[in-house]
Amino acid sequence: MRALVVDKPEAGQTARAAFRDFAEAELPEGDVLLRVTHSTVNYKDGLAVTGRAPVVRRFPMVPGIDMVGVVEESAAPAVKPGDHVILNGWGVGETHCGAYAPRARVKADWLVPLPEGIAPAEAAAIGTAGYTAMLCVMALERHGITPDRGPVLVTGAAGGVGSVAIALLSRLGWYVAASTGRPEEQAYLESLGAKEVVPRDRYAGGPARPLGKEVWAAAVDTVGSKTLAGVLAEVRYGGAVAACGLAQGMDLPASVAPFILRGVALLGVDSVMAPRPLRLEAWSRLAKDLDRDALRAMTTTATLDQVPEIAGRILAGQVRGRVVVEIG
Ligand code: NDP
Repeated sequence: MRALVVDKPEAGQTARAAFRDFAEAELPEGDVLLRVTHSTVNYKDGLAVTGRAPVVRRFPMVPGIDMVGVVEESAAPAVKPGDHVILNGWGVGETHCGAYAPRARVKADWLVPLPEGIAPAEAAAIGTAGYTAMLCVMALERHGITPDRGPVLVTGAAGGVGSVAIALLSRLGWYVAASTGRPEEQAYLESLGAKEVVPRDRYAGGPARPLGKEVWAAAVDTVGSKTLAGVLAEVRYGGAVAACGLAQGMDLPASVAPFILRGVALLGVDSVMAPRPLRLEAWSRLAKDLDRDALRAMTTTATLDQVPEIAGRILAGQVRGRVVVEIG
């Protein structure tokens, strides 16, 4: 089968993905064989395909952290041939061959049944980015933050996680502000439900003082680094930030002032190893709370051949919303 593959690089070379013939026998062990119908391109896929960061930790590797497909063979009683399933994370595309090939062999425990009412292409459009956005919203809810407490800020707003977060929060009744470095995307962000656009520069340099004006009841941060530090300094008393990303950087040059003087909470969100019950809850919430028109508005469709080019663009912050990759 034709697949996008990262082979072990020569010493001193970058591990970059290229198309080649990949035998089914090269697939890793697993109790389920899937026909992959759809995938997507997340930021992490961009890193794996270009080799910009050492995301791939086993060779040869088929990247692609999200797959939607149909079960062809199963040795697991709970999974039957013909089942439509979703797989997000669990190291797929990093340590276990992923979605950029027509077939994948995976573990039954990693699979989530395609929720009723979500089409396979929609599940790929949501992907890890959308499911992570849902985990962020659920983290804020679990902390007891409700829309009547004030506005919510979404950083990296025109990206994948950001776009889905805006659509979800707006549908749930929040006043949503969208922080972006792409002012030309204002109409797009408003179409998803943002009521206000905040220029990226407002936070990109970090906080001017340990505590700023109390502005946000909550935030979903996909950017990390100085931006997250800047946002924390403007969260209202008792508010919370769900942090899931590092588009600006992995560091966090912040002070403890927001935590110890305003009781602000920093809620970490991980999608890769999130336990199955949390995934099932997130996907059932997505089926219920994600506006399909908004999902359509943020989605473009691509072929597997276009993935290397899209990988470069997502790392440059040039991909808007979500991309569905049609595999087979
Ligand atoms: P995207 O590339 O689609 O979105 C990231 C957005 O961040 C960009 O669109 C851009 O938004 C903004 N951005 C890019 N570069 C910078 C910069 N230097 N400074 C400030 N803002 C910047 O990626 P995803 O939405 O797929 O992922 C977002 C982040 O979340 C990534 O860091 C990813 O690794 C992480 N992530 C984490 C997960 C987890 O489990 N914790 C799961 C999924 C993603 P704009 O143009 O609007 O400013």
